[in-house]
Amino acid sequence: MYRFSRAIYRELSAEIIEDNPGQPYLNHERVLRACEAAVERLATDRHYFAKPARTLFADIRTYFPISSQGRVWRIVERYLTFADEFLRTQPKSGFDMYGNPILCRASTRKGNQCQRAPLPHNGYCPSHQHLAETENFHDFDELAAA
Ligand SMILES: [Zn+2]
Repeated sequence: MYRFSRAIYRELSAEIIEDNPGQPYLNHERVLRACEAAVERLATDRHYFAKPARTLFADIRTYFPISSQGRVWRIVERYLTFADEFLRTQPKSGFDMYGNPILCRASTRKGNQCQRAPLPHNGYCPSHQHLAETENFHDFDELAAA
């Protein structure tokens, strides 16, 4: 998975501004860490990560000159789209790519995350399907037609 964050970093590395005296690679480090964090969140928290490219771009844009901003945006958007498409094609085995079990997106009344396995098409377990219906009318139509 980190090949996506490294690819973003590699493409942009030459344009990073370094303006921290005594710490010549501090901003390079920050850009790389931000790219890794975005890819990791894409892999583990996709349902709640609505605009990955915008989020990463907002995190790293200050480390680049104005003249590079358009290119930074295009690179970020392109590689996060690749990463997202890659993740969507992975088999749904009940575990994410780090080996953590994938759980239902709903919370229990005590505020803990529901521990049941979700259905792949909406991320909720059978008991919490009604929550998906209110957020996605297309899925609801499919369920109603089934
Ligand atoms: Zn549930």
